[in-house]
Amino acid sequence: MLLKLENAVKRFPVKGGCFRTKSEVKAVSNLSLSIAEGETYGLVGESGCGKSTTGRMALRLIEPTSGKVYYKGEDITAYSDEQLRLVRKEMQIVFQDPYSSLNPRLQIGKAIQEAMNIFRIGEAAERKQQVYELLHKVGLQREHYDRYPHEFSGGQRQRIVLARALAVSPRFIVCDEPVSALDVSIQSQIINLLEQLQDELQLTYLFIAHDLSVVRHISDRVGVMYLGHLVEEAPTDELFTHPRHPYTRALLSAVPHPNPKRKRERIVLTGDVPSPIQLPSGCVFHPRCPAAVPACKEAVPALKERLAGHRVACHLAD
Ligand code: SF4
Repeated sequence: MLLKLENAVKRFPVKGGCFRTKSEVKAVSNLSLSIAEGETYGLVGESGCGKSTTGRMALRLIEPTSGKVYYKGEDITAYSDEQLRLVRKEMQIVFQDPYSSLNPRLQIGKAIQEAMNIFRIGEAAERKQQVYELLHKVGLQREHYDRYPHEFSGGQRQRIVLARALAVSPRFIVCDEPVSALDVSIQSQIINLLEQLQDELQLTYLFIAHDLSVVRHISDRVGVMYLGHLVEEAPTDELFTHPRHPYTRALLSAVPHPNPKRKRERIVLTGDVPSPIQLPSGCVFHPRCPAAVPACKEAVPALKERLAGHRVACHLAD
């Protein structure tokens, strides 16, 4: 496995009066997942479910409260800043809003070259040529080198951000909602580009999104999160055709069927998502679960493998 999270937990303190810690937001709870080299792992769930926190923990951009992060089999949880700096060269992140991740006063060629300078990639004199090649790789032209971010469309800006991520020859990229802010017509171009780059450069992706159709298209395996918990994980086709967790079933029921003659029965969840400060007892999904039984309030369901590669956290999954 290229990347592995083991029992990762993230709690954010909530300050009370006089700056004393009053309570904590339980953003991610005991989450374990692994991603193989060359794989695209899709992570889905409603906003606020802990997907982005998980992505940032995988890169150690935020520190796990407890648990471990392994990269290429090595525990990087306790790495020093210098060790992390070296490993980060291989791990990049692409955010939802490309404009805010680019310096508006820096020409885009220089922004891409900056990453190479930091990691001293190639000879200084050759870096400009390498930037031209990267621009070409992501579908832009060399004359774009001297332009500023505001001169580009949203889709082009996401291409620039991708070129900047590729400048350090990464192996693993966290794509955090990379197409959510784009026009539907542009989304497919960026998804195709991500797939093409993956084939060409043997990249591994953790692809975070709430759009299930996009995730189904790009992912090899999919994990579903609810209130900071991984509740189901399976190869993509298996998850979309045989979802076993009631939450996954409800999420999928809202996705239009590719064949318009076949309508899905919509499962509407009642009630609001509970506060991550005060998690429900037992199964965190029980207050909204249409299948809940009394035992669900008492015991936390373990995420267990029910079929090869298909893990489900539900007492009734068998
Ligand atoms: Fe629903 Fe109970 Fe399964 Fe949780 S454990 S998903 S409440 S049936």
